Amino acid sequence: MNNKNKSETSMNAVKKVLIVGGGIGGLCAAIALRRQGIEVDLVELKTQWTVYGVGIIQQSNVFREMAKSGVLDGYLDAACAFEDVTINTTAGERLARIPGQRLAGPEYPANVGISRLALHQVLSETVAALGVSVRLGLSVESLEQVGEGVDVLFTDTRRGRYDLVVGADGLPHARLAVRRAVLAAFHRPGGVALQLSTRRRNRSSGHLPGSRRHGH
Ligand SMILES: Cc1cc2nc3c(=O)[nH]c(=O)nc-3n(C[C@H](O)[C@H](O)[C@H](O)COP(=O)(O)OP(=O)(O)OC[C@H]3O[C@@H](n4cnc5c(N)ncnc54)[C@H](O)[C@@H]3O)c2cc1C
Repeated sequence: MNNKNKSETSMNAVKKVLIVGGGIGGLCAAIALRRQGIEVDLVELKTQWTVYGVGIIQQSNVFREMAKSGVLDGYLDAACAFEDVTINTTAGERLARIPGQRLAGPEYPANVGISRLALHQVLSETVAALGVSVRLGLSVESLEQVGEGVDVLFTDTRRGRYDLVVGADGLPHARLAVRRAVLAAFHRPGGVALQLSTRRRNRSSGHLPGSRRHGH
């Protein structure tokens, strides 16, 4: 059996998943799993399930996954699409223009800017509509592999058993409950910062002039 068939076979055995962390990763995983008919519980450490109100920039790889997850329309409606990136002086003189690439297809913009709050709203509303059980103010105390499943002790002393546990509890070292429980050591990833100037999308259509979208 090749690796693809092996992983399909083992995913077929997965009926119930616990996701630890309700950020972008946890929410997207929850949506994708629910769309496969898998039961999903999600625990989030925060008692108020919100995110800070800054914007982020996203590109084609995100649009493709949003389309696969069936949330593309809500996502693009909440976003501000733009094509090119320009680098300007503070006096407004243009130093460079980096043409946008519509890598997800001509019907999608090259880039979008979206507020984290809006993204969280689109994803969390979809998660709720799909029937994911979300519990706030909760984490995992311990994880124990028993046979083909995982026995979970939650921080409120309740227990659960899952076929799979997804660690989506982010990067800050102080937390990382799942990775700490599973791995003795892990590497700290690096980071890159970019500052971009954007062009607003066409307000009346909600999209860039000339852009098309197919229904998903
Ligand atoms: C300054 C900055 C700028 C960025 N800009 C961009 C950008 O422009 N475009 C882009 O696509 N990405 C950007 N990113 C990256 C993006 O924010 C991350 O890729 C994304 O947030 C990762 O999502 P995540 O769900 O893995 O983690 P997080 O968003 O960190 O979510 C983790 C969640 O898990 C919860 N949690 C933590 N510990 C536990 C626990 N023990 N139990 C239960 N829940 C727990 C947290 O409360 C949180 O809700 C940027 C990141 C930074 C820091």
